[in-house]
Amino acid sequence: MAGNRTFTMIKPDATAAGNAGAILKMIEEAGFRIVAIKKTKLTPELAGKFYEVHKERGFYGELCAYMSSGAIFPAILEKDNAVEDFRKLIGATNPANAEPGTIRALFAKSIEANAIHGSDSDENAAIEGAFFFAETERF
Ligand code: UDP
Ligand code: MG
Repeated sequence: MAGNRTFTMIKPDATAAGNAGAILKMIEEAGFRIVAIKKTKLTPELAGKFYEVHKERGFYGELCAYMSSGAIFPAILEKDNAVEDFRKLIGATNPANAEPGTIRALFAKSIEANAIHGSDSDENAAIEGAFFFAETERF
């Protein structure tokens, strides 16, 4: 059975552009409850750790530099079928391929600076949520 939590980050491009509020409004209006959220900034080392699964990919170095270039809003979200429904709400990795009306179609600047992260599995949602939040910070 699909789990009811996912993990997201509003990335540096969308945070710097002042789009965090509009994006969080879309997330809440789509039926997700915010379980935990904060504003923070990753070091290149922490970004590297978060994206370790991509370390063999050509874009890894640039991705770590970009993800540590400015403030982000990590958050844990709750809804039935959370992982799959949230991936639908954010749209394809490359905004050029994202469905109209999705968060990436509306706010992403490029395939790298694509406004928002969404976990790809229940297992990764749990790992990624634990990367940023203790159990006592989830409400
Ligand atoms: N990314 C990139 N170039 C690519 C593919 C991905 O810079 O060719 C970045 C982009 O920010 C993406 C992140 O790496 O969101 C993680 O890639 P993944 O394939 O997991 O995409 P996602 O799950 O975020 O849609
Ligand atoms: Mg991914």
